[in-house]
Amino acid sequence: MSIVALFKNCYEHFKGKFQKNYISAQTPKQYSQKKVLVLDLDETLVHCEFKENENFQHEVLLEVIHKGQLYTVYLKARPYLNQFLQEASKDYEIFIFTAGYEAYCQEVLSFIDKKKIISDYYARGSCQFIDGICYKDLQLIDRPMGDIIFIDNNPNAFIKCQDNGLLIPSFLDSEDDDCLLRLIPFLKYMAKKKDLRPVEQHLKIYEDNNGTIVFCETQKSIQIEQEEPDEDTLSEGKVVKREQDVTDLDIKHKKTQTQLETVNKIKSKLRSVTLFSSSKHN
Ligand SMILES: [Mg+2]
Repeated sequence: MSIVALFKNCYEHFKGKFQKNYISAQTPKQYSQKKVLVLDLDETLVHCEFKENENFQHEVLLEVIHKGQLYTVYLKARPYLNQFLQEASKDYEIFIFTAGYEAYCQEVLSFIDKKKIISDYYARGSCQFIDGICYKDLQLIDRPMGDIIFIDNNPNAFIKCQDNGLLIPSFLDSEDDDCLLRLIPFLKYMAKKKDLRPVEQHLKIYEDNNGTIVFCETQKSIQIEQEEPDEDTLSEGKVVKREQDVTDLDIKHKKTQTQLETVNKIKSKLRSVTLFSSSKHN
């Protein structure tokens, strides 16, 4: 990362921190009985696009000013998001950790977290980009690592905290997606554990004991993948390649596992995201 980019990231990070009204994770722990739930934003809780797309039924339009430029964001929340946050907040402090920029993160949270359930957020300025990999370091959150579950749709996010990671299938816009709903009983089960690590092992025991599978076809083991940094993307650096590079494997990864969609429809969506993501690079 260049010095200029590093400075911009730091500026956005601290500007966002001073402007927001959330409880800082650096304050003394107020909820000693609660575990800690760290959630990614894009394709985990919401899906956003930056151009109108007739194949994407957005829920709300948001306006984000970033680096002096106005962006229109087409947002759709993952089904059961409100119920998920309400239920999870009974047992967990909730933090957001996203590779999206601060202004974007704040605007999305203003829509999905009207009740201020979420305690704090960490955005792009809190991520480290090294050799094309985005690192999300949970040590930034002043909480015991044994108390943390970190849910993300990108396996790269777990590089520094593999034992805390829980990989969730990516959400695009499937109305049938019920991943968040299926997570609620597992989170209640985990809230009673002394040490939540490794989360994937707890998940396997939970699934075996209950004869159920939380995420039907998600990747069971976390594997680190190299990806290109995309420092000018407003939202999270997408794990979307150029359309001609999209393979069946990519589509399977991007597709919400709860709904079978045609390849053409998914390619159309990927194109929409790619258009924005690559606009300053191609
Ligand atoms: Mg994501």
